[in-house]
Amino acid sequence: MLLEGYKINVGMCLQDPVKIRVVGELTDDIGDVLPYLNATLKGGMYNHDAKNLSLKKDGRVITFHPKEIHITMLENKKKAKEILEWLKDVINKTYDNRQNIKPKLDSWPILSAMSLSGYLPNVKCEGCPANNCYAFARKLIDSEVNIEQCKPLFSNEYREKREKLLSLLERAGYNIPGESW
Ligand code: SF4
Repeated sequence: MLLEGYKINVGMCLQDPVKIRVVGELTDDIGDVLPYLNATLKGGMYNHDAKNLSLKKDGRVITFHPKEIHITMLENKKKAKEILEWLKDVINKTYDNRQNIKPKLDSWPILSAMSLSGYLPNVKCEGCPANNCYAFARKLIDSEVNIEQCKPLFSNEYREKREKLLSLLERAGYNIPGESW
């Protein structure tokens, strides 16, 4: 185990005044595990020299520093603790397993909704979990929808677009469905 615990400091969230942002002050230095976390968590922006890793999850920004973890857009302190406990577990598991992980020293490619939506079918569907393909692409980037929720994309008609889109997502560190389609 690398990380024993943390102290929670609460501040105002600049993105949403109704929410809070917290800084978890860590009892131990996690700087050396950041390249392994970057490889494991996927999709983050990583600065190896400055030793910080930043990623988006469920509409929040989580930033790791050697002795701190910053989290935005939290409902309350209870939610902060829940996420910090999960992160502590991920950090310790990654640290224990680091000999089997190839460290990643740079950021994952950044996706834009504009580029992704160009590979979606661009038809208006009643069952779409977003209002349109562009909104779906935005939700896809924020992991709020699953690519398989775009049903038309998985028809033969859009095979070429689908392959390109899945390849972009995979290179950016997103989990993609297997080849059962
Ligand atoms: S289901 Fe797919 S094609 Fe239909 S509107 Fe949503 S993203 Fe576009």
